Parts: sequence; C-alpha cells; structure tokens
Amino acid sequence: MRPSESNEELNRREISERRTVLESRPVALIVHLTERCNINCPMCIVKKRRWEISDKTLGEIKDLLPYLRHACWTGGETFLYPRFRELLEAAHRQEGLSQSIYTNGLLLDRDWMELLIRGDMTLIFSVDGTEPGVYEAIRRGARFEDLCRSLDLARRYQGRTAFRLDLKLSVAVMRTNHRRLGGFVEFARSRGIGELEFGPYIGDDREENIFKFRDEAAVSAVVESLRALAAEAAACGIKLFNRLPYNYSVCDKDKTLNSGPDLFCTFPWTWLHILPGGKVIPHGHCKQVVGDVSRGSILEIWNGPGMQSYRRKLADGSFDDWCRSDRHWMDLVMET
Ligand code: SF4
Repeated sequence: MRPSESNEELNRREISERRTVLESRPVALIVHLTERCNINCPMCIVKKRRWEISDKTLGEIKDLLPYLRHACWTGGETFLYPRFRELLEAAHRQEGLSQSIYTNGLLLDRDWMELLIRGDMTLIFSVDGTEPGVYEAIRRGARFEDLCRSLDLARRYQGRTAFRLDLKLSVAVMRTNHRRLGGFVEFARSRGIGELEFGPYIGDDREENIFKFRDEAAVSAVVESLRALAAEAAACGIKLFNRLPYNYSVCDKDKTLNSGPDLFCTFPWTWLHILPGGKVIPHGHCKQVVGDVSRGSILEIWNGPGMQSYRRKLADGSFDDWCRSDRHWMDLVMET
C-alpha cells in the first residue's frame, strides 16, 4: 500500500473516532505559492504585497507529498513561482496524487505543458468573459487572443500521456460580466473544456460586488443565466458547478464532497489551506486562522489548538459561530 493510501485509511478511522489530535497527515493541501502576477485584475488583493512561500515551507510541502491524495497550487499567478517546476517534478514522482492548478493561463507554453502532462492534472483557467471586451476589462493587462492560444495549446496536450489532463474554467461573476455569461458553455464546448465553475466576485468594490452589496435585479439576472447555462451544459456533457448567488452568512461548501454521515463537515480532518502571506485555514470556506507557516511547521499547525478546536466543534455540533460568518479568506489575508 502506498503511504497516501495508508494515510487516507488511518485518516478515515480517526474521523470515525472523532479524534481531535491525528496521527494521519493531511490528505489534501491547497497552497498559495506566490503573490507575483503578470496582470492586474481589479478584484484581486493578492498582488498588493510581495510574498511567496519560504524555502522551509516548500521543504515541508515536499515531505508531505507522499501522504497526499490531492494538491492544489494557486497564486498570484502560479507559473511565476520560481520553484514551481521543481515542486511539480517532486509531485509527479508520487503515484496516485492528483493535482490542480489555478492560473490565468497566459504563461503556458510547450515546456510547461510537457511537464504538466506527467501527472494527473486539472488545469483551472480564470476566465471571466468569453468576448475580448469583457475579458480584457476584468483581466487587466491580458489579451483575449493570448488566453485562447493557451487554451488551445492545453487542449492539444490532452491524451498525449496515460495521465489525466482535465481543463476547467473558473468564472468570477461581477457587475461587469453579469449580463454576459450566456456564452460560457459554447466557449467551453468548442475548446474541449469539461467543467465550468461560477463563483462570486469577492472584493469590497460596492459597484462590482452585486452579491455582498446586494443588487437584487442583477442577482436575478445571474440566476436566470445560470439556469439556462446549467441546462445547456447538461445537454453537452459539461459539468457546471454553481456557487451563486453567494450568501455571505453560511458556509457554501459542497456538502456532497467532504462530509461524514453524521458530521456536517470533515474538511478540518483532511485539508489544510495555506493562504497568501502564510496564514493557514483548514479549507477555503473556513474563516478562522489556525496557524501561520512563518511561525510553525505545517505538521505543528495540523494538530495545533486551532485545528483541534475545529474538529471538536464539528464533532459536538457547536460549529455555528466558526462556520457561519460574513468573512471570506481574502479578508483574513488583509488582516494584520
Ligand atoms: S467553515 Fe466549517 S463547515 Fe465550512 S468548510 Fe470550514 S469547517 Fe467545514
């Protein structure tokens, strides 16, 4: 049995026993590797500082790789992390590890693609418009034709190795694009993209954030568009994950993904998420910081007081004060 399989088996047993201190290691990791970026999207706070994971944290992540079933790499722009190639090569050596990468896709070239297809991979492109005008208004500094070139390049690499290469689009919905969502299924279908995810704009711009600073008419238009898109996607076999309309007061995690039969959520037993700047939360839906990789090791945080509290609260059903909140992980990043 591989270390990742025995770790997962032990992890399941510890969840069923409601353990708060675990012998198993994380099963899945989400890591913001860098705040560098090559474009300047108005909704993004990540680029406003200069931070990337330390060499010490990179070493800890590499040590964890044999135990993981899934690793998600994100940024900033992930492909600008200077040691990303080295990290991917180490991850590819772990049999049975699936990886996903969030990217604006603009830096993808043949060299990167040759490396990406050496492991099971989901490439998630951040694309907020299917027309040059909308896309370039949001992804400032990016050219729509460069995005299309990258999507086409990635598609050409599908099926070249025995490893899975899935392509997915992640769409942030805001005022600028809320009436221009209708083309996404056709855009995805024509480029061999198998999955679409719609999430909310999460910045504090009152004009753009139609969900937090509720604009009922705009939200209704989005709901209508998503209904039509869901039918269109189903008809052509594209998966559509709809996290809209956003409700800031309730954890919007997909309960089908990570819950035990009588636990509301098992993320704090399985995941760790390293935010830009180094703070750690169990998962992107969570609102309580449980540590900081600049002050403690990943494994110290994994069984530290914050993670123990999350597990205890979920085990005894007293999680409301931690899991229902109007904050988002981006708010945690900006707090000192
Ligand atoms: S906020 Fe609570 S319910 Fe949501 S993912 Fe985190 S621990 Fe689970």
